[in-house]
Amino acid sequence: MTRRTPPRPLDVEQLFPEVAPFRKEAIRLHPRVGEPTCHDSSVGGPLLWPADEPWPTCSGDDALGTAHEGPTPFVPIVQIHRADAPGLPFPEGRDLLQVLWCPFDHGDFCCPLPQVHWRSTAAVGEVAPSPPPPAEASEDYVPNPCAVHPETVTEYPSWDLARHVLDSLRDRFNRVEQETGWLYQFHLADAPGIKLGGYPGWTQEPWWPDCDRCGQRMEHLLTVASWEYDGESWRTWLPLEDRAVVDGEESFRSEQGLAAQNAAGLMLGDAGGVYIFECRSCPDRPIGHCFDCS
Ligand SMILES: [Zn+2]
Ligand SMILES: [Zn+2]
Repeated sequence: MTRRTPPRPLDVEQLFPEVAPFRKEAIRLHPRVGEPTCHDSSVGGPLLWPADEPWPTCSGDDALGTAHEGPTPFVPIVQIHRADAPGLPFPEGRDLLQVLWCPFDHGDFCCPLPQVHWRSTAAVGEVAPSPPPPAEASEDYVPNPCAVHPETVTEYPSWDLARHVLDSLRDRFNRVEQETGWLYQFHLADAPGIKLGGYPGWTQEPWWPDCDRCGQRMEHLLTVASWEYDGESWRTWLPLEDRAVVDGEESFRSEQGLAAQNAAGLMLGDAGGVYIFECRSCPDRPIGHCFDCS
């Protein structure tokens, strides 16, 4: 079944024309528990991994505390075919994006350590089975296998809105909230949940990494969020197809509601997200990442 975000309840660009120049497209993945194969786009599913390439392992060098001492396998986070991600700039000759992470806390942000691979499916011969996640890893950091239902949506910046633009809009945001109940940041701006491109789904002040090599600010590639939506954002961002089971605060917290809200079963800190960035100026696309939560 597809998943479609309902049209916004208000015309954002008519009410707030200042944000129109900052319009971006994001691809919401809409993970739902399923049984993806290595040939499918997925969250937390097996990867199309060539048998003649070693499965990536993390040495644990910058793992925090007693997180893990010996080498440990990375776990699949997202696999997406180019056909499922229209508009995402794949490197030439590649048609499959694979994102994995080491499911233990690492580095300054004290979060899983991501890795990104761009692959040509035609170049994958025999497929290696994806290993099980390490037994000691927290289940909060290992997504359940999910089918995805990619959907392109329009976004406007919330945390990323420039200060002077925000200053000119603040009174109008407040007036619209009073008159309609819709808050720009939660209901109208950028999509919650796991998504490619668009704006990072920050829960705090933005932190955009610069490329170590060329110094340019990196581009947002992927937000891995704990939840698909919260107690506010579901009102506008919950797909139409899920509204039969989630139509208010109570059902939002029901078992069926949770299946739509948190199919992947992730919990990154206090309902936070891991944001993965890449430099598209450097040919091998170095990545950066950060983490925030409530
Ligand atoms: Zn590690
Ligand atoms: Zn660079």
